[in-house]
Amino acid sequence: TKTILLKNRPKGRPTTSDFEFVTEDNDPKISDGELLLETTYVSVDPYLRGRMSDAKSYVPPFELNKPIQSGVIAKVVASKNSKFNEGDFVSGMLDWKTKQVSNGEGLLKVDGNKAPLSAYLGILGMTGMTAYLGLNEIGKPKAGETLVVSGAAGAVGSVVGQIGKILGLRVIGVAGTDEKIEMLKSKFGFDAGINYNTTKDIKGAIAEAAPNGVDIYFDNVGGPISDALLFNINKFARIVICGAISVYNETELPKSISVQPFLVKNSALMQGFIVSNYSDKFPEAMKHLSGWLSEEKLTYSETIVDGFDNIPNAFIDLFDGKNKGKMIVKI
Ligand code: NDP
Repeated sequence: TKTILLKNRPKGRPTTSDFEFVTEDNDPKISDGELLLETTYVSVDPYLRGRMSDAKSYVPPFELNKPIQSGVIAKVVASKNSKFNEGDFVSGMLDWKTKQVSNGEGLLKVDGNKAPLSAYLGILGMTGMTAYLGLNEIGKPKAGETLVVSGAAGAVGSVVGQIGKILGLRVIGVAGTDEKIEMLKSKFGFDAGINYNTTKDIKGAIAEAAPNGVDIYFDNVGGPISDALLFNINKFARIVICGAISVYNETELPKSISVQPFLVKNSALMQGFIVSNYSDKFPEAMKHLSGWLSEEKLTYSETIVDGFDNIPNAFIDLFDGKNKGKMIVKI
């Protein structure tokens, strides 16, 4: 059994030396009520960076020299718990371990015949819920409006944009490479895309792509992209603050512009979003996402990295935009 521990709290950008691998010879033993799980897929997510630091947040920090946890799909390889059978697949917040014991609490059975197992970490998992609920609950989309999504080619962003199209919006995505912009348009049906790495005047590019102004901004990145967006919002615009990956590795407070004048002038709303606050709406989100998937109105991309040992690298690569769609490690 291999385990990955948090060795150091990363300073700035995480490095592989912030993680430690531990190997034990024997499989863990299970008692009554417990299951032995073998990890199949591991989700790596930008929010884990926050849990690696010890600043107060909405989830407690990881402890040093303890296993890191994230969304995991695992196979039940032995069971002394009547709710789970050997051979079942489950999803849950589990340790970065090749094998582990669970009492079954917090685990959901997932059905590999209904969708590929990895999809339960993405489009039918936390990032899909985030896209659906963030856009609907705070964005309150109305057909004919204009939506801008940052981090548009990632797990959350690519789904937000597609839902926007299903709901009849004009959708503009901001992402980091020309290849990603091409994918947004050809695979996900976005109306326009902006490569923030090659565009000097992002504010002007947004104005050009959104001739009627921006009604909804789904913000995954914060920083200069989001500053540029503020110049383009309409009256009663809604800004969904889902994430701020551009500042997660900053060691000093970012120098952003002051948002207040933009919000006042446009009677605009800006609200932070945390998916776990909307758990009562997960069944509704799941129903729509799986329905649209089976009707082929929705599709998804995954970047699948092979091997348990590559989990830290896959996580670090999120900050370099190495992924298209959901970044997942296959064990
Ligand atoms: P992604 O799949 O979008 O991966 C991260 C992407 O961020 C990269 O592919 C990269 O794409 C982009 N990126 C990296 N650095 C920068 C930068 N400096 N400026 C702009 N873009 C950058 O991850 P997720 O879809 O899982 O998450 C997206 C956002 O949503 C994150 O901020 C995350 O924290 C947040 N989130 C929030 C949740 C909530 O409940 N609030 C739940 C889930 C996610 P590129 O090549 O385009 O730069």
